[in-house]
Amino acid sequence: MKTVTLEEPGRFGSREEEYPTCGANEALVRVHRVGVCGTDLHAFAGRQPFFEYPRVLGHELGVEIVEIGSENPKGLKVGDKCSVEPYLFDPQSPASQAGVTNACENMKVLGVHVDGGMRPYFTLPTDKLHKSSSLSFDQLALVETLCIGAHAVERANPRQGEHTLVIGAGPIGLGAMQFAKAEGAHVIAMDISNDRLAFCRKDLGIDASVNPLEGDSEEALRAICGGQLPTVIIDATGNKKSMENTFNLAGHGCRIVFLGLFIGEVNFDDPSFHRKELTLMASRNALPSTFEKVIAAVESGKVDTDPWITQRMKLEEVGDLFEGITKQEGQIKAMISIDHDS
Ligand SMILES: [Zn+2]
Repeated sequence: MKTVTLEEPGRFGSREEEYPTCGANEALVRVHRVGVCGTDLHAFAGRQPFFEYPRVLGHELGVEIVEIGSENPKGLKVGDKCSVEPYLFDPQSPASQAGVTNACENMKVLGVHVDGGMRPYFTLPTDKLHKSSSLSFDQLALVETLCIGAHAVERANPRQGEHTLVIGAGPIGLGAMQFAKAEGAHVIAMDISNDRLAFCRKDLGIDASVNPLEGDSEEALRAICGGQLPTVIIDATGNKKSMENTFNLAGHGCRIVFLGLFIGEVNFDDPSFHRKELTLMASRNALPSTFEKVIAAVESGKVDTDPWITQRMKLEEVGDLFEGITKQEGQIKAMISIDHDS
């Protein structure tokens, strides 16, 4: 079977690989869809820290079970369609023992630290599979991305109608907006692209939007929030300036979640942190329960995935078309399909 391998920054290759067999606690899956994510683009550009080449990418997956080992506590069956939780945490680690599996000390992510799903078949631990009886393979492959945003919303835990500002309308921020909305929050999108903001309002039904390049953001937020400032902020920009500015945009008692990652130091003004009694949190990956929750939300139609996929390619086209994804305007999610004749 042919796999697509990122051989080095900027170059994919193809390798012949043995058809895999699965162990007792594993399942063999047929991969139908692979979503392309920022991590993949960083790896391609050679900007992903601690990344080793060659590597089979792919951690946003829509798969079908072909074979299943004898240890199968979830009672999964051959033919089940599943989303993959790509976080291979160590169940014995202190974080996992404390229930924070998403921040496990020994975390390995499929398609990042170990080979992922950009290949027709692979094996993985059975407990990483989350099944749905109604989602399409496209939707199953979007679940992981949505989980990242959904987990940030779990961290912030907005109340019904609470003014919730999500900064950054890239794929991760969009997921956070959709789940904050699904939780009943009053969601405000902030981004420097008016096209993205229009997309948030029209396609995702987000309540309001602010472009920080078009005037005073604090004033704009007060106008939206009845004179107050938001009491939940999720920053999905990974931009130092934006992250530092969240303290100025926060209402008293605000919970701020840094969902984006900035590689470096972020500074804050302690008196404003103290005076407003802010809570600052990070959000990383997602929990197994987040996958179940996201699948249920998409199944019920509470979260609409229709606007998400903006570009498609086949596995054999990855080498030629991948680079173009990074340059395409209005890009949200590129989806790779793998054809299986038999
Ligand atoms: Zn991803």
